[in-house]
Amino acid sequence: MKRESINAVAQATEPGVFIDGAWRQGAGAPLELVDPCSAQPYARVSSASAEDVDEAVAAAERALRGWRSTSVAQRGERLERIAQGIEAHAGELVELQMRCNGKPRFEAELDVSDAAGTFRYYAQLCNEGHVVERAPVALPDAAFEADVRHEAVGVCALIVPWNFPLVTAAWKLAPALTAGCSVVIKPSELTPLAERALVDIVTAADVPAGVVNLVTGGREVGAQLASHRGVAKVSFTGSTAAGQAVMRAAAARMQRVSLELGGKSALIVFDDADLDEAVELAFNGAFFNAGQMCSATSRVLVARALHDAFIDKLVALARNAVVGAPHTADVRVGPLVSAAQRERVLGLLARGKEQGARVLCGGAATQDAGFFVAPTVCTSVAPDNVLWCEEIFGPVALVRAFDTEYEAIALANDSDYGLVATVVTADAARAARVSDACEAGTVWVNAPQVIFPQTGWGGRKLSGLGRELGPWGVRAYQEIKHVIRARTSATHSPQS
Ligand code: NAD
Repeated sequence: MKRESINAVAQATEPGVFIDGAWRQGAGAPLELVDPCSAQPYARVSSASAEDVDEAVAAAERALRGWRSTSVAQRGERLERIAQGIEAHAGELVELQMRCNGKPRFEAELDVSDAAGTFRYYAQLCNEGHVVERAPVALPDAAFEADVRHEAVGVCALIVPWNFPLVTAAWKLAPALTAGCSVVIKPSELTPLAERALVDIVTAADVPAGVVNLVTGGREVGAQLASHRGVAKVSFTGSTAAGQAVMRAAAARMQRVSLELGGKSALIVFDDADLDEAVELAFNGAFFNAGQMCSATSRVLVARALHDAFIDKLVALARNAVVGAPHTADVRVGPLVSAAQRERVLGLLARGKEQGARVLCGGAATQDAGFFVAPTVCTSVAPDNVLWCEEIFGPVALVRAFDTEYEAIALANDSDYGLVATVVTADAARAARVSDACEAGTVWVNAPQVIFPQTGWGGRKLSGLGRELGPWGVRAYQEIKHVIRARTSATHSPQS
């Protein structure tokens, strides 16, 4: 979609439902999309009714048999074409991400290259023979032979949040297609445009009609889809509360679930760390995507010897960071996605201050019309302070001193969540010990939050269930079946 046509969207209600290879208007109430930089509406998208959801699932069921029986090589070829399609439309996808989320250009560009890289990775897994759907199983009894099959689980509901719409959709769709599943995507009601564009790219890559369907809408559309009897698996990314609702609903029919939920992660800076490097890592860990990251390392633990100097540098960096709309020169921090999200963050800050937190910088909305909150650094945040315990999902860093490695690990793990951790130290042995001790799905050592499609993604405790990306991402969309055959006679006793 070109920039002019993005603006033209404001005039009309765009179709929000894609079923069996065709766009159409959903029969639900239209959604008005609001520009987070100006608080002005800029687009209307129709949303799905309950009948639309039923039809989308039915289309995916019809397409499933054909898609799951394609060869892995055929799927790999389509995945590579999708990667190329994303690259060919990179400029438009970057603009859409900036438009929907107000992301700075460099962040929107990272999202688009991540999405293309994810499809290319799964294409390569297919083409290089790493997606094994059938393998012999060695048995201790020569009278039998067996093989294991990894079969497509069935129709999958892919439920996507607003913070990384394109990336999250890619992390779900690429492995689901690799596994031979058909899908219904449900984008966030706040940011559905990138997934709409992705569906067009998928169609142009010759993925058969009905394999990928999309329904736009709010949580009621997500809830109907997640508990639909035609859906075999739900892959959900979003808040822990909604993830728990999905898991409860799935219990009724034992639907498979993968849940990528909230976080409250720690960045640990030891006294031998390079101070400037540590401050830069802390800044990005808390303020990238305006802090709207499940992986935000908002709890910053600093060795007491470095604590005061660290605070001075982090506060200076936060105060000087340019906050603004994507086209603002040198912008580093964009807006929050919605007025509701801004009010939620400001409400948590107000409660945190009442409970004793000291705000050293930021702590308030900026003067702009959009949903901007200034990068905020707090100290004196007790472990039972709401800011320390709850996911904030805004640009807020909490800094706390520690005295020993043991205390740092205990503080890092003292959370209901367990998504990621970052360790900053010059001591390789210490880095290894702390990485081992962290209760998290990913640990970065002296590294920014780089994520590769080769490495898995997901968390422990309230951060979710299962892993996306890597070969584990494909297995999450498959069921295991074993076939055991008697070599000699059909009446061979199992005990022999
Ligand atoms: P959410 O969890 O309510 O919504 C995420 C997606 O799930 C959306 O597409 C939504 O329509 C859908 N959904 C909501 N309830 C559902 C249900 N019961 N069944 C099926 N689908 C459902 O998140 P949100 O309202 O967009 O944001 C609220 C909070 O969630 C944020 O403040 C933040 O803390 C957290 N969040 C976390 C992540 C993450 O990556 N971990 C992403 C977005 C939001």
